[in-house]
Parts: sequence; C-alpha cells; structure tokens
Amino acid sequence: LGQVPARLKPDATTDMVCGYCATGCSLRIHLKEGEAVNLSPTSEYPVNLGMACPKGWEALSVLDAPDRATQPLRRNALGDLEPVTWDTALGEFCDRFKSIGEAYGPESIAFLSTGQMVTEEMAFLGALAKFGMGILHGDGNTRQCMATAATAYKQSFGFDAPPYTYQDFEESDVIFLVGSNICIAHPIMWERVCRNKNSPEIIVVDPRRTETAMAATSHLAIKPKSDLSVFYALAHILIREDWIDRPFIDASTSGFDEFVAFVQQYTPERAAEASGVDVEVIESVARKIHEGKRVSFWWTMGVNQNYEGVRVAQSLINLALMTGNIGRPGTGANSITGQCNAMGSRIWSNTTGLLGGRYFQNAEHRHEVAEVLEIPVERIPTEDSWPYHKIIEGIRTGEIKGLWILCTNTAHSWINQSDTRELLDKLDFLVVQDMYHTTETAQQADLVLPAAGWGEKEGTFINSERRLGIVKRVRRPPGEALPDFAIFRLIAEYWGCGELFRQWTSPEAAFGLLKELSRNRPCDITGIDDYAALDHAGGAQWPCTEPVANVEQQRRLFTDGRFYHDDARANFLWDETRAMPEQPDEEYPFLLLTGRGTASQWHTQTRTGKSPVLRKLYPANIYVEMHPADATLAGIANYDEVSVRSRRGELAATAFVTPTVQRGQLFIPMHYEETNRLTLPHFDPHSHQPSYKDCAVNIQPLHEE
Ligand code: SF4
Repeated sequence: LGQVPARLKPDATTDMVCGYCATGCSLRIHLKEGEAVNLSPTSEYPVNLGMACPKGWEALSVLDAPDRATQPLRRNALGDLEPVTWDTALGEFCDRFKSIGEAYGPESIAFLSTGQMVTEEMAFLGALAKFGMGILHGDGNTRQCMATAATAYKQSFGFDAPPYTYQDFEESDVIFLVGSNICIAHPIMWERVCRNKNSPEIIVVDPRRTETAMAATSHLAIKPKSDLSVFYALAHILIREDWIDRPFIDASTSGFDEFVAFVQQYTPERAAEASGVDVEVIESVARKIHEGKRVSFWWTMGVNQNYEGVRVAQSLINLALMTGNIGRPGTGANSITGQCNAMGSRIWSNTTGLLGGRYFQNAEHRHEVAEVLEIPVERIPTEDSWPYHKIIEGIRTGEIKGLWILCTNTAHSWINQSDTRELLDKLDFLVVQDMYHTTETAQQADLVLPAAGWGEKEGTFINSERRLGIVKRVRRPPGEALPDFAIFRLIAEYWGCGELFRQWTSPEAAFGLLKELSRNRPCDITGIDDYAALDHAGGAQWPCTEPVANVEQQRRLFTDGRFYHDDARANFLWDETRAMPEQPDEEYPFLLLTGRGTASQWHTQTRTGKSPVLRKLYPANIYVEMHPADATLAGIANYDEVSVRSRRGELAATAFVTPTVQRGQLFIPMHYEETNRLTLPHFDPHSHQPSYKDCAVNIQPLHEE
C-alpha cells in the first residue's frame, strides 16, 4: 500500500460479484469514504481464488464514461433526443404504451431484457410487465446465448439445471470441450482447468484452432455443424464396444434402447465424411471417453448458437448419461453460461417461463405464484410469451407496436442487423432503458430512461455453476440515473398498479419473495436468510435448503441418479442431423463463423469499449480472419482492406491472414457493430435461439490495383 497514491488508499473494502461473464468472480472493492476507488480479485472466493480477467480489473472505470445516460431523454419534433424530467418521461412512458394497448390490445406491447440485471430486477420487471401492465410478450437477450442449453436441460433432466461445480474442471481426467473457447471467453474457468493435477486429456471440438484448441491435447477441427454426426458416432462406438454404464442407464434413464437403434446408422465412417475428421481419430476419442474415470462434457456458443443446437447439447448429455458420467466429481454434461446473470434470467425473468422455473400453462403454478405475491391469479397470463425472434417478427407483421428494451443492445447484437434496425424504426414507440445513451439501440429510441449500472445498485446474480452471489452499491449513479429496481417501482406507481407490488419495497424484500417462490422447487434457496448471510457465506449454489453457513461450497446435482422428471429419470433425446440452411456456393463461397474474439471485450462493447485499457488490448476496427491459402488465391495480403458480403449486407474489414481458420471459412468477432449485417436469421426449432455461426459470404480486396 506504500506505493498506492493517496487517492486510491482504501479506508475499507467489500466484496461483490463481477458484472460481466457468468463465471461470477468475486472482486474486492476498495472504498474511500464509502465510494469505490479501486478493486482487486477476492482470494477467498471459491470461484476465482484470487484471479480476475481484464474485464473484471477494469469494471469500475467504465462507470465514469462521458456518455452515461444521466437524465431521461425524449425525442423531440426535430428528431433529437432532449432531456426531460423523470415526471415527464414516466408520464410519456405510460400514456403512449397505454394508448397502444387500447388501440391494438396489450399483446401489441413487448419488452426485451437481459441476462445482466440483478435477479431481483429481472423478476420485478417480469412481474410488473405481465401482472401489472398486462403485457403478454417479453423475452431476454439470453435467447441469443443460453436458450438452447436451457431447453436441452428441461427436456432431458426435467428442469433447467446445469449439474456441475467448477471444482469439476480440476477433478476430471477427460475434459471434452465443444464450441467453447474458454481460454478467452471464460479465462478464470480455464485457470481452473490449469489447476487440474490429473494431467487430463483435453479434447476440443471446434472448426477453428482457437486459443483453447491450441492448448488441448486433441483438437477435432470439424467442419462447421457436423458436431451432431460426430457425437452420434461416438455413441455408436461406445455402444458397439459395450463401453456403457448399463446399471446407471437402467436405473436412471429413459429411451436408451430406442436411441441404440437410432445411432446404428451414425457410423464413424459417416461422421468422418460429414466432419472431415478421420475415423481413427473418432475411434480414439471414444476410447478416451471409455478409459476416463471422470469425463466431463462442456459446451458454449458453438453448440447453443446452432439451428440444431438443442439436439447437439442433448447428444452430449446422452454421452454423459450412457457412460454414467454425471453426478460424480469431475463429470457432467455441462453448459457454460454466458452473461453474469443468465442463470437468473433463465429461472426468474418471468418471460417464456413463469417465476421459479414454472409454467404459465400450469394452473397450480399460477396459484402458487399468486399466493406468494398476493395478487389475483387472473393477473397471471395462461400462455408463454413469444420468444425474441417472434417479437421482432411481430413488428414486421404489425402485431407489435410498442417495445421496451432494457439493458441490451438489440440494434447491434440481433441477427440480420439491417433488417432489425428497419423494424425498430417501424415501431410506434420504442423505449430504451440503459446505462449509456449512445448504444445503437438507444439512438433509435423515442424515450431513453437512464439506468444505474453494476456497482451502483444491489441485488444478486446466479453464475454458471448455480451460485448466487452478491452485488452491492459502491458508487452513486451519475446525475439522475436510477437503479432499474427504482425505475420499476416508479413505473408501477405511474401506471396505477403500484398496489399490486407493495411487497417489492427493495431488492432485498424482492429476494425474500423469490425465496418463497423457490420453496420446494429444484432452485430452492430457502436456506439463505438474507443478503448478509449470503455475503458472509461467500455465495451459495442452488438448491440451498439448509442454513447457508452449513452448506458445502462445491456441490453438483444428480449425485443420487435421480432427475427432475416425474419418474426421476433423464431422457435420451435425438433427431436426424440436418443440412445447413445456407450452403456456400459460387457467388458466396465462404462460410462465416462469428464469436468472441478476446478476453478483453464483452459482447457489443457497450461497457468494455469505454475502458481505455481494454481498448488498447483489442483492435478498434473490425477484422476478418482468413486462411493463408484462400488469401493467396483471392489476392489478399495480411492487413489488406477487404469487403465481406452476404445476401443480407456488406461490411469493410481488415484482413487477418491466419491458419487458425480452415480453408473456405472466415471468422469475424461479434464485438463489432458491423458483424451482424451479414448473419442469416435462422433458429433452433426447440429453443428459438439464433444460429449466428453459419452463413455464406464472399470476400474481396477493397482497393484492387
Ligand atoms: Fe468478471 Fe468473467 Fe472476468 Fe471473472 S472471468 S473477472 S466474472 S468477466
């Protein structure tokens, strides 16, 4: 501390969970006179053990950006956003949404939210919108990242339940990573892999030679979207060789015999042809799974953002089930979540599922919720919301006229961006609630509501291993910006439904309601008394039914071989593989892959783009990765300016010539505003998640001599 300038010398510290990714690291906030002045990673927290990635280290700096939204803004007659009072903004919010509802019905208003608000805010938003304002349709940006995993788990296990603890990274002897570049996307999880003392086999399945693939013991550089063929072939081999756990299959699963019949046709030879990976390699991977005592299967966006992603996720779940690799240390079929509170959103956002992982169609579930919230049960819709893409499509058809977008940047991140922006312009009324007034989406808004960010409000996040962690207020929000929770309370009053939400007096009061709503659900958190108990315990994984202080810190699900379906069994699920909807052809001969490009930027750079340190760690301008042989044929050299075009749009980028992409493929990071001009709007039929990683494009030098 002797080296620390006086202005950064803390007089106190407090710990809270990071607000970027779903790893859920704890950061020790250095306080001076009650305000955060600096931070460092918390060493005692069971998640990060004293580590943080660049985004975490820079978490405070982005709060000071000059383009923070500090006042409500309303678009005036000249088309400019001008400051207005909260009273005017809230009056406008209610008047315009109500008049749309009166003219076209309440189903003509929708909201799109996020995996980055605290759980209490997500639940309040979902309750306010659906039970108070009468809105039927609302979804979150978790549709873009985790809907596939959530759907796969619900169908296979009976509840959206990632079964693992991070300790499993350290206890596996075979770590099977699919479409998951955790070296940069979840760097602290990768550190947990590096702490594994078993010299594990690390098998990476990914079309690109990512940073994680380079560090693996085996890399299966499959052709894009051939993963389902390969995993069915692995099942085929395991069955053929009798490398399966019959007692577990018989005691704990359904549908295995039918699955055996199905995978007969998925021979290693067929998978080799589909994937470009040799039969011998596929056979050797099956053997490694067999020889592993503790095999864990992990996946991220390469699986989830896929037009057949649910079945791919379930093909991994099937492999774990048939080999008995679940419920034991170092095992599991493990989806790694994306955003800091994606798990909170999946269970508590009240969008396409009722609060607490319930179902709107289930009368008993509606009554349980009505009783705890003390609201008339008739206030609860009896059907699910439309998913994100149907809400966007509803603007085109004229069924959606008003949209409230919170804490997400749809105009940047949604697939087929030019079309999306045109549709947002068609709305009668667009409200954006965000920390920054400069996001691409806020720039299209009729009304901007200024929101406090992480560190400026309190609540809880749920991380990838189901751990609830505390978020605290360690800074004052700038100007008139308010925590989302406070904005929802104001809206309830202005709308005239405040009486329904008299219990929602604070985030901690809302936490008490969520506890009650979780009672006897798989996500039960009734063992956590309050925020202080959770803080003191260093977070807690759900379920947590015993006093949190007594609960073991690293727990996995299904240790007794019982799942959440009524018969306590897990389901084997499958479908035939399907061809990519848009194949490369003569006009568009390359396949475009998109994804995370760095550990130092986050999603649309809305926050991380504000940090001078993080900007230095990553190219400011968009670039496209291309194989050297393709570049030579196309007359493109490293750092040339190029044009990349799809049937939907075009962008200019700098060429980065690298053998980490295969021939015939290009890679562009998702962090740049332009990337989604190219992407093809197609979706998994079960999860409705967009398939961002397969569309046909061409590439040409921009300035030919
Ligand atoms: Fe934050 Fe994720 Fe980085 Fe941890 S790994 S510091 S949670 S962004």
